[in-house]
Amino acid sequence: MTVLAIDIGGTKLATGVVNAAGELISEHRTPTPPDGDAEAIWSALVAGVEQALDGAGRPPLEAIGTGCGGPMHWPSGVVSPLTMHGWRDFPLRSRLQEQFGVPVRLHNDAVCVAAAEHWRGAGQGRANMLGMVVSTGVGGGLILGGQLHDGATGNGGHVGHVVVDPAGPPCRCGGHGCLEAIARGPAVAEWAVRQGWDDGEHTAAAVTVSARAGNEIALAAITRAGRAVGIALASTVALLDLEIVCIGGGLAQAGDLLFGPLGEAYTEHAGVHYARTPRVVPAALGQRAGLIGAAALVLAGERYWHG
Ligand SMILES: [Zn+2]
Repeated sequence: MTVLAIDIGGTKLATGVVNAAGELISEHRTPTPPDGDAEAIWSALVAGVEQALDGAGRPPLEAIGTGCGGPMHWPSGVVSPLTMHGWRDFPLRSRLQEQFGVPVRLHNDAVCVAAAEHWRGAGQGRANMLGMVVSTGVGGGLILGGQLHDGATGNGGHVGHVVVDPAGPPCRCGGHGCLEAIARGPAVAEWAVRQGWDDGEHTAAAVTVSARAGNEIALAAITRAGRAVGIALASTVALLDLEIVCIGGGLAQAGDLLFGPLGEAYTEHAGVHYARTPRVVPAALGQRAGLIGAAALVLAGERYWHG
């Protein structure tokens, strides 16, 4: 079976063709039209799909798996991604179905990354896992008992809104003190700038470079984010008795700068015996995870699709 995979975010529209073994046999990436209206984004997406199909030699298409930034109504696939103002209540799943004439499955993009890491990445063979992404936002997906756990509304595993500091900053969800409000890339850069850091572009990637070069404010900014992730995970692992947590996304590229303080905070806060050994690892599939996980909704639907 050959599946078209789509991974939609605020900065890129990724499309690819995935074979039954979970291998990407073609891949195409194009920037998400900034400030594009609904149809401009849709046209760019359809063009990207055609490119991916051309790249794979136009195989007969049997189904489409899609990951998209949230929030969304699930499983109807009506999406309103926070980072894409052009799509508000955009009926993505039904539009894809109409356009390409095949069944479509759709989930949150971070849920797709979790499915990918469980299916073909760092979580293979584990029955209980959190897969998370720390980038522009902080998202995640849960595998419990070997099955993707959707929750009541498809939002299960949304670790970004675990509260890590009751006195913490406001979060774009409307709450405050959430993990996402502290650890998402733009929040890391903003915090560093507020402390007087000005050693590059105001992005988490630049803060990471600066931290690696020994800048103390930049180091403190990454440390603060890493500790927040560690605190959130101590609670999450204790609650769900997980075997492993896989972390991907841009900020995970900070490596030890992030995972060091993360592990320390985790150890400080994980008291119960089954949560004491940190089982927190970097994700294995990198940028490909979104597409591979979208395909997994179809190719391994018995585990990852209950819509
Ligand atoms: Zn929040």
